[in-house]
Amino acid sequence: MTPMTANRFVRCSCGRQHWGTYGAAGLLLCDPRRGVLLQRRAWWVHNGRTWALPGGALEARESVRDAAAREAWEEAAIPSSAFQARSASVLDHGVWRYTTVLGVADSAVQAQVANAESAEMRWVPLDEVAGLELHRDFAAAWPGLREQLGRELVLVVDAANVMGSRPDGWWRDRHGAAERLRDQLTGPAARGLRDDVVGLGTGSTWSWWPRVVLVVEGKARGVEPVPGVEVVPAETDGDSKIVEVAAAARQRPDDHVVVVTADRELRGRVADLGARVLGPGALLRELNG
Ligand SMILES: [Zn+2]
Repeated sequence: MTPMTANRFVRCSCGRQHWGTYGAAGLLLCDPRRGVLLQRRAWWVHNGRTWALPGGALEARESVRDAAAREAWEEAAIPSSAFQARSASVLDHGVWRYTTVLGVADSAVQAQVANAESAEMRWVPLDEVAGLELHRDFAAAWPGLREQLGRELVLVVDAANVMGSRPDGWWRDRHGAAERLRDQLTGPAARGLRDDVVGLGTGSTWSWWPRVVLVVEGKARGVEPVPGVEVVPAETDGDSKIVEVAAAARQRPDDHVVVVTADRELRGRVADLGARVLGPGALLRELNG
């Protein structure tokens, strides 16, 4: 069977029709200096003339991050290399879903009207957004989106503790076990972590593409970083290094910092810094799932 065309309306149980057989996605880009990038829709498209996000229908089997990036390129000439996707929020209507991908733009990137679906692309200061004539779905979502704008999830992983919680023979080859853990962590770095797993309290509709920092010690210190996973070796005491990494991340107070460890004393030390803690079991379920 040939796949259905992605670009059509879906009749939804909410009584409305939505665009996109496989759902739709939009990109909410922010730049600390300029605000957020909004698109005024051309008069002839659905909900024409209102302000909303560059975005559109997902292709079959396309990830929301890829779809948002593709649409930003097609509609606003924003290359995917010019921003970093950090989180996503889903509006789930069952038969149809809309995902807003939140990203941070390079300060130099210039947006422009790149196809006929846009009338204008504009950087709008945050306090001026609600004053525009917004698409009604974006207007409803904006207050919640604004709260997480620009925020990053920093996931600090206590390698020794997480490795120690799974009896896979790690004690025979600590270096190899740390490399396995590092490679597994590229999964959440690419796919994202749902808020139900990391427990930030943003609600189950949110997920995050984390900055992952793996702290290694002892025989695992030589482990090299890979794309998506930073590796920080502890020269002496692993716990102190984890506290140092968490404290450095907390220098950006809006970011969410989560430390993965079961070590009771360490959990107390990082909690004192305002970091959250996650048990190794919850992370490993996610890595194996
Ligand atoms: Zn609906």
